[in-house]
Amino acid sequence: MVQINENYLLLKSNYIFAEIDNRVEKYEKENPDAEIIRMGIGDVTKPLTKAVIDGFKQGVDEMGHAETFKGYGPYRGYDFLIEEIIKNDYTPLGIQLDSEEVFVSDGAKPDTGNIQEIFGMDNVVAVTDPVYPVYVESNIMAGRGGQMGEDGRYQGLVYLPCTKENDFIPELPKTPVDLIYLCYPNNPTGTVLTKEQLAKWVEYARENKSIILFDAAYEAYIQEDNIPHSIYEIEGAKEVAIEFRSFSKNAGFTGTRCAYTIVPKELMGFDTSGNSYSLNELWFRRLTTKFNGVSYPVQAAAKAIYSAEGQEEIKELVSYYMKNAAIIRESLAELGLNIYGGINSPYIWVKTPNNMDSWEFFDLLLNKAHVVGTPGVGFGPSGEGYFRITAFNTLENTKEAMDRISGLSF
Ligand code: PLP
Repeated sequence: MVQINENYLLLKSNYIFAEIDNRVEKYEKENPDAEIIRMGIGDVTKPLTKAVIDGFKQGVDEMGHAETFKGYGPYRGYDFLIEEIIKNDYTPLGIQLDSEEVFVSDGAKPDTGNIQEIFGMDNVVAVTDPVYPVYVESNIMAGRGGQMGEDGRYQGLVYLPCTKENDFIPELPKTPVDLIYLCYPNNPTGTVLTKEQLAKWVEYARENKSIILFDAAYEAYIQEDNIPHSIYEIEGAKEVAIEFRSFSKNAGFTGTRCAYTIVPKELMGFDTSGNSYSLNELWFRRLTTKFNGVSYPVQAAAKAIYSAEGQEEIKELVSYYMKNAAIIRESLAELGLNIYGGINSPYIWVKTPNNMDSWEFFDLLLNKAHVVGTPGVGFGPSGEGYFRITAFNTLENTKEAMDRISGLSF
């Protein structure tokens, strides 16, 4: 008789976006004329840009000719893309990377979900709360999380609350932790850490021989100075941090799938006898068994992002969404709501009015404004009483949604 991985039974039964879909579907059935505007899920709405499409097409054409056809590509990704990544995303920041430290992948979600596989089961894992659910759930599936307590926290994980009381800046853990997931600019709160604030985490990791798993999927949205674009801007971070980047949110690759992960060669993990091993080699070892690379046309399309035309186009994409973010911030602030994020990030984190809980506020906006956002509690217990609105819809829908919400009184 086949047995299942019982860790899966420890997952909360309804992934938050499935629950949102259920409620919206039910509402739509009962109110077929309601025009619903979705500002919940973090998917983009603008199409791929011209430079990217041209790169993509060229890649596809090459696949159709015997002389240029490509079979399996290099595990780490094609050099033509890796070179552009290093030259454009790291060299200008004063960060030196070797091409073998860059791993092109099919997404920051799979990479942040899979990275835990190269680490031992006894590691203590810390996550900020609220948090992008993938970090928590991938560790639960692996068996590192234990049972969920009545407080909504898995007992085996260390939660680092981020709320308005601490300006959404997580405090260093009070008990030792080994793996620390940090995501900046943050999903869901839209907040950022300054260089000085991030440097404290690097120092902690160096002192405790911990590893920081730094998700920078929203790096392109940083507008202010003194906000690090890469964790490697902090001295010593190459010895303690893995960085995840994605083309999903800067270039609209959510459906095209391309991202990359930096695993520096300096990074070491230890066996139970204290012998050190290269994490770069372990991650590479995992790829050679479980991954066969990103398709050639997709990598050709990703390379095109780095052309002069491509860079101009993605700047426009980001500023389009950031204009939406500004509209959302202004409208909600005028209503007297407390809002966070939306300055260096496409996410606006709203404190619900009148002590409403997250789902009450969700239902209110759905019923009265036909606007769908994401209840903060879906991202962790410290998200209760908050609500996430994204800037990824069209300008027209964003304006319409804000007009509708502005007509409500709280
Ligand atoms: N990391 C964070 C923090 C995200 O919010 C998301 C998507 O919403 C991802 C990663 C997923 O990135 P990708 O599309 O590259 O898998």
